Amino acid sequence: KHFLITIDGPAGAGKTTVSRMLADCLFYRYIDTGALYRAVAYEAKTVEISPDNDAGLENLCHAMTLKFIRDEKGTRLLSNGADITDQIRMPEITMLASAVAAVPVVREFLLNIQRDMAREKGVIFEGRDMGTVVFPNADIKFFLDASHKARSLRRYNELKTQPLEDVENDIRCRDERDSTRSLAPLRSADDAIIINSTDLSAEGVVELMLSDIKN
Ligand code: C5P
Repeated sequence: KHFLITIDGPAGAGKTTVSRMLADCLFYRYIDTGALYRAVAYEAKTVEISPDNDAGLENLCHAMTLKFIRDEKGTRLLSNGADITDQIRMPEITMLASAVAAVPVVREFLLNIQRDMAREKGVIFEGRDMGTVVFPNADIKFFLDASHKARSLRRYNELKTQPLEDVENDIRCRDERDSTRSLAPLRSADDAIIINSTDLSAEGVVELMLSDIKN
């Protein structure tokens, strides 16, 4: 049987690494929904629409086509046909993504896109509200957490473009905004399996998940 699996949690908890590994083990597809919020942020920045301009963001979303494709470089995100996979990882876009993610019209636009992507099972969705809002009926839900320090260090080692202190502040700021917004705040679903990865390797987390999936 093929499942719809969700993995939610704060920035730097290891969701992306673990989702990729788990998808490989199970021969599932994997969808990084944070990339979709980053895409909206990137396009908004390009045409200079600020995150407090609801009407501007609404028009932007309605004119936007987002699509994941697989090519020789791996999974790529196309926005209106252009490959923006690398551009959306810039620290500036990261903060802007968290700002546009608090805007209801943006969440509503992406909600439909995400549900469309779930037509076939055998898929892992990674994000902040997968188990709570987008797929409340998912077969298996995980909530991956870790200490603020561990999460900051992981992001720092991954990017190496910002001082550790800046990464720590960015993560704190994003956590705060993501968990206090009125629509779809970051929290674990009541029926989610909570895993704390502070002292676990990615392999260790995947092992735990696989045993939960088999049970
Ligand atoms: O996961 P990632 O760090 O790429 O997400 C970027 C931002 O997108 C998050 O800080 C969060 O504000 C937003 N997001 C969200 N809901 C999701 C995925 C991401 O609000 N399902």
